[in-house]
Amino acid sequence: MNSFTLTIPRTIKQTLDELGSTKGGPARIKAGGIDVLDLMKEGIEQPGRLINIRQLDEKPHALREISEVKADAIPEGVWRLLPGGDNGNPPPRRDCLRIGTLTTLAELSHSPLLQSKAAALSESASLIATPQIRQVATLGGNLLQRPRCWYFRSAEYPCAKKGGSVCFARDGENDFHAIFDNQPCCAVHPSGTAVALAALDAVLALQTPQGERFARLSSFLVSPSQPGGAIGRENRLEEDMILKNIWIPSPGPGEQSLYRKVKHKQSFDWPLAEVAISLRRGLTGNKAPEAVRIILGSVAPVPYRARSAEAALLQSPSFDAERIRKIGQAAVSGATPLSRNGYKVQLVSGLVQQAVAELLL
Ligand SMILES: Cc1cc2nc3c(=O)[nH]c(=O)nc-3n(C[C@H](O)[C@H](O)[C@H](O)COP(=O)(O)OP(=O)(O)OC[C@H]3O[C@@H](n4cnc5c(N)ncnc54)[C@H](O)[C@@H]3O)c2cc1C
Repeated sequence: MNSFTLTIPRTIKQTLDELGSTKGGPARIKAGGIDVLDLMKEGIEQPGRLINIRQLDEKPHALREISEVKADAIPEGVWRLLPGGDNGNPPPRRDCLRIGTLTTLAELSHSPLLQSKAAALSESASLIATPQIRQVATLGGNLLQRPRCWYFRSAEYPCAKKGGSVCFARDGENDFHAIFDNQPCCAVHPSGTAVALAALDAVLALQTPQGERFARLSSFLVSPSQPGGAIGRENRLEEDMILKNIWIPSPGPGEQSLYRKVKHKQSFDWPLAEVAISLRRGLTGNKAPEAVRIILGSVAPVPYRARSAEAALLQSPSFDAERIRKIGQAAVSGATPLSRNGYKVQLVSGLVQQAVAELLL
């Protein structure tokens, strides 16, 4: 592991000053440290300075807090990115949940507020890694961790993601790699909370030296093939930025969400496939679904929105086993599996069917 200096700022301003300084070489933020220290031990990242943000103490919106904020107190930048705006009209104002970046995965999974108002997020956090890791790992670090592709994680393989010219997984051991959008890099996005937050239409609040900026999670995470994407990165975080809070619209009447994960080893393991669904049902008559977001995880370089499955689900208000099978099939339409991960196509289809059946039957 390279040697580095450690700083422990108390405020966001001090953190931004540290990030902006050029003395001592490139800097990296450390939150829980689970991922960044792993990368340093493997020699994949070699920052000269590590900035530990665990002690940040920003009042009044502490960075380790989960709270519900009334519609009239939502910052304009968040409000304008909420769902529901059309034809140039802004979305309606609504209450939102605000979660600080330093909230641990354990706190997310045990929060009664999230369990009742953002079930997909607390469920995803509760299934990540081990209880020990969940006590330390933070929401921000989970969203911003690097992919687990074993070629990327090994210093012996100068893969394309690390600036080389070859994707070793393409014709190599690609069992756990992407089945969608898998050119020019087939590593999957590693974050379980990102899958849930994409289904919940989350908005990120980012602090830069120039002020606060807001971005929908779904446009902040970017695959190499998307406009503005690059093979060496998974998101649009700039070097002088810090993630502060994550905002989620509070559910209205008839809205619910869930997250499901398939893994090899049941005690703890990385996912083979994940799905998060948020659904709004009508309040009268047969309570038919009126809006849905179906997000697949561990299948693409960023959480993958299964729009064909969403359309199939909204087609008619009646549901039986055959209808649900068709929704599952639609979820994997257009998949381009690699030499060793064809099994994921059926696995994902089955997982979507199971999740949709749980919500609708
Ligand atoms: C055995 C094991 C199993 C695992 N299983 C899963 C799993 O199933 N699903 C899953 O999602 N994850 C899994 N993980 C990964 C683990 O959850 C992540 O490594 C962890 O969540 C990272 O959080 P952290 O706070 O420790 O991040 P850190 O390591 O501190 O940071 C990660 C990255 O985010 C940046 N960063 C952190 N906070 C900020 C901020 N506020 N602003 C700007 N940049 C920031 C850091 O600079 C760094 O680049 C597993 C890990 C292990 C070891």
